Amino acid sequence: MKKSIILLFLFLSLIAFAQKNPIEQITKLITKEEAEAHLTFLAADEMRGRDTGSPELDIAANYLAAHFALMGLKNAPGLDSYFQPVNFVNVHPATAGKLVIGDDAFQFKDHFIQFEGGNFEWSGDVVYAGYGSPEELARANVKGKLVVALAGKKDSEGNPMAVFYAAGEKFNDAKAAGAAGLIEIFAIPQVPWPALVNYFASNVSMKVKGNGGTAVHVWLKDSDAASLKKLKESASLPGSLKIEGVREVVVRSKNVIGMLEGTDPKLKEEYLVVSAHYDHVGVSKRGNQTDSIFNGARDNAIGVVGMLATAKYLSQYRPKRSVLFMALTGEEKGLLGSKYYSENPVIPLNKTVFNFNCDGAGYNDVTIATIIGMERTTAEADLAKACAAFGIKAAVDPVPEQNLFERSDNYNFAVKGVPAITFAPGIKAFDADLNKYYHQPADEVNSLDFDYLVKYYRAYVYANVLLANNPKAPVWKAGDKFEAEAKKLYGH
Ligand SMILES: [Zn+2]
Repeated sequence: MKKSIILLFLFLSLIAFAQKNPIEQITKLITKEEAEAHLTFLAADEMRGRDTGSPELDIAANYLAAHFALMGLKNAPGLDSYFQPVNFVNVHPATAGKLVIGDDAFQFKDHFIQFEGGNFEWSGDVVYAGYGSPEELARANVKGKLVVALAGKKDSEGNPMAVFYAAGEKFNDAKAAGAAGLIEIFAIPQVPWPALVNYFASNVSMKVKGNGGTAVHVWLKDSDAASLKKLKESASLPGSLKIEGVREVVVRSKNVIGMLEGTDPKLKEEYLVVSAHYDHVGVSKRGNQTDSIFNGARDNAIGVVGMLATAKYLSQYRPKRSVLFMALTGEEKGLLGSKYYSENPVIPLNKTVFNFNCDGAGYNDVTIATIIGMERTTAEADLAKACAAFGIKAAVDPVPEQNLFERSDNYNFAVKGVPAITFAPGIKAFDADLNKYYHQPADEVNSLDFDYLVKYYRAYVYANVLLANNPKAPVWKAGDKFEAEAKKLYGH
């Protein structure tokens, strides 16, 4: 045989080898040492806990961009760098306010606090809508009115967590129904009113600049005020609401996005989003703790390194589908970077077939990877296969009551219909082992188990390899909560 033909055969067999042996290639490329190097940088004390809006988070963004460049990732359409600028505002709470319903006047702090929204001055009809479900809102004809509803849902039975989680959705429903504002009657004996006031009257919250509209969301202390009784019995009462002193301060931040084009002429039109939030909670003094830097090694430098490892592998062994690698900002402030992205995607969401997010609270079981939402999409088999290949088990969420699915960036993709789940280090329970590090200054690199992490990373990379090459994109399983939204998004 001529030399060129021998070379051709050698070349072809190398390609075949590469395609057949991702497990060997992953083992070779994804190492403990490299993971430790990235983590040591991202979670160093000098990074001061990577708070959103801090200069240190921008340093982390530059670090990620530099690595994207080394891997040869492209800028996403519409961006002239790896940065997607995201403007947030810090909302400083109201200082005064007054609510009038019928003949009763309620005072700011003494009787009500503002949960969401800006300064507000309004008068008109106040109506009552039970628990404020979409059906009850429709029945109460709330357009242009202030809606009073009981906090939580019918089945929350005084569970403060359930009340808190129901609040955001209920406010969105009220806004969608055209209400001027939502007043929830708060009657949770476990949460004393002064504690709530203390928290909300001093808490600076962050939101995406321009988001939220003009409606307000208020929590009203339960009372036997005659007006509330009357409101529950009759249709409506005249009222007014004034809220003053809310201040917004702009905070500039960015998502870091790198793009890799797929090799298959058809499948490259479909995008896999490999994401991880790179922010954490910064620095704060708590009690008599001597360390005030919340390094966020587990939360979420671990996830960022999973995203980087995947980018490293796939940029060398390019997949059929296209991939967006995404480091998201503002997760700890309320999933804000992903919220912004889901409303301003660089690739239309209907071409985004899956989001495999990497995030976690920590770990207390090194025999598994915990996959939040694992059982909800048809990616399940690939996920199980990827973990098994590296000697760990793919396990489902053991603590659904913690709402972990709703507490990471995958959620903002899911609500738009995109099948979206989170790969997290192994948890068997949300217990003291976990809380020792979860959002604590102790969450440092020197407490990490790299023998476990390297398996975890290799499994994540392999899962992404399988997902990016599987001829069939994963979908929500039949009957899933987000199936209808997916049908709307993809048209099938
Ligand atoms: Zn996190």
